[in-house]
Amino acid sequence: MRKQIAAANWKMNGTLEQANTLLDAFASAALDVNDNRLAIFAVPAPYLILAKEKLAGNPYLQVAAQNIYSKKSGAYTGEISVEMLQSIGINYVVLGHSERREYFNESNAFLADKVNIALEYNITPIFCCGEPLNIREADTQNAYVAEQLTESLFHLSAEAIQKVVIAYEPIWAIGTGKTASSAQAQEMHAYIRSHFAAKYGADVANNISILYGGSVKANNAVELFSQPDVDGGLVGGASLIVDEFVQIINA
Ligand code: PGA
Repeated sequence: MRKQIAAANWKMNGTLEQANTLLDAFASAALDVNDNRLAIFAVPAPYLILAKEKLAGNPYLQVAAQNIYSKKSGAYTGEISVEMLQSIGINYVVLGHSERREYFNESNAFLADKVNIALEYNITPIFCCGEPLNIREADTQNAYVAEQLTESLFHLSAEAIQKVVIAYEPIWAIGTGKTASSAQAQEMHAYIRSHFAAKYGADVANNISILYGGSVKANNAVELFSQPDVDGGLVGGASLIVDEFVQIINA
């Protein structure tokens, strides 16, 4: 059975002092998490070890890196490797966020390499996909997202693909306060699942968690997460506000 996941994406925000305060608050909050309902915190790299330590008391609170490089070590100044993450006990990494695709020119092919090395080190990719506004307006979002998934993930075996978490994040909804309607989210999530089913079969597709991202807030999380193919959220802005994100986790 696929897991339900509320993932926090702090992006490039917060000082050490703020990270400490947030992590302490989440560590002591009353969270409805269990074997099938996880909360994952994608914190900036300098706070990964801190987050691991602070959240260690609850196995259902996991820590994610926001990026890795596609090589396991070497002369790549400034990059973070899977080997490093594994050595500090990090089990998740966000890959292919639209901000990385846009500002750091990450292509589908490059992301395929990152997915491979993450899986090789037993680190679960939270693989982001999603269309810009002009694609949505032209109503070609399905083909656009299908291409992202096909080019970065369809080389994987049926066993490996089930280790990947998908995050559908329409770019026009990220940080804009403009959420996809629950119907738009469900429609795309069902399409993504059908795209996996066409390649890997329905049983495999049903095991893949597909998160929605883009202006998820406490006041829309319940409705979004109640859609049959929406298995949780990847949350930016609202994950930096304790009360908001606690409500989102519990939704
Ligand atoms: P947002 O960001 O919740 O602030 O819209 C989501 C994301 O980029 O992951």
